[in-house]
Amino acid sequence: MLVNSYGLNGMGIEAIKLFDKMPRELIFEETYVCVLNACSHSGLVDHARSIFFNIINKTEKIYTTMVDCLSRAFLFEEAQILINNFELHHSPSPTMLMSLLSGARNKKDNHLSEKIYIRIEEKFPKHKNRLVSASILLSNAHASVGDIEKSLNIKNKLYQLGLKKKIGLSFTEINGQIFKFRAHDRSHPRSKDIYAENDKISNELIEHGHQFDSAWITRLLDEDETIASVLSGHSERLAIAWNFVANPNTKQIQITKNLRICGDCHQVTKLIAAIRQCEIIVRDANRIHHFYTNGQCSCQDYF
Ligand SMILES: [Zn+2]
Ligand SMILES: [Zn+2]
Repeated sequence: MLVNSYGLNGMGIEAIKLFDKMPRELIFEETYVCVLNACSHSGLVDHARSIFFNIINKTEKIYTTMVDCLSRAFLFEEAQILINNFELHHSPSPTMLMSLLSGARNKKDNHLSEKIYIRIEEKFPKHKNRLVSASILLSNAHASVGDIEKSLNIKNKLYQLGLKKKIGLSFTEINGQIFKFRAHDRSHPRSKDIYAENDKISNELIEHGHQFDSAWITRLLDEDETIASVLSGHSERLAIAWNFVANPNTKQIQITKNLRICGDCHQVTKLIAAIRQCEIIVRDANRIHHFYTNGQCSCQDYF
């Protein structure tokens, strides 16, 4: 972990050095977005702040990146001031508010999450998809502080409104054949082997210090379930386990998922790639994640 953060830190500073050397006339919106993101990854919020304040033409994308940077650093008040400033002269941006909401969820701040959710609901009553995502984040935030009742109420409200979350499916190709898994799937003829391999992987993860995070669970657990068993049953986990069952020495695994990968699966897949020394490529609904054998992902945890 330490090496990882040093690595990322170095990258942020390199990015700033490069940025400082660039002639101003060659700097476009994308350049600002990149350097702000690099600062954000490396926890260089002060640098990000000073770059941001010196930008003359601050576009919505630049504002959004800065809000994201502050939210990831849990500097919520500052992020909100920035959003308020932006909204003085522009129509509100749903992406900005969503960044703030996911920051609040990650900090397990359910009060702030609720406040931002209400703001999103008021400003974007017709953005159905956005509201579903925001509701799920809020529901996660409540679940993460143990308020399962509130978390379930939100989920029920979604069902009543017919805003059901799609069922997560993962596809993987092994020796020219395509296999499909849903969460907690037991339909595969070699299901027993898959679950045994998956348990083995989970034990390796725990040995390497992974802690399954209940923030990613938004339902009540059945008696025979644990946080680890629920998260380990996600479809991509089963697809990964099946790859190792079918081909124990595999050096590359490819998975396609119809939804976004969850935070726990993302963290776990980085570890699996490193522990098993096997590249894992997950194409989810949002982007392609390339998990390298050094335990990092190409998205650099931006997903
Ligand atoms: Zn997951
Ligand atoms: Zn990733």
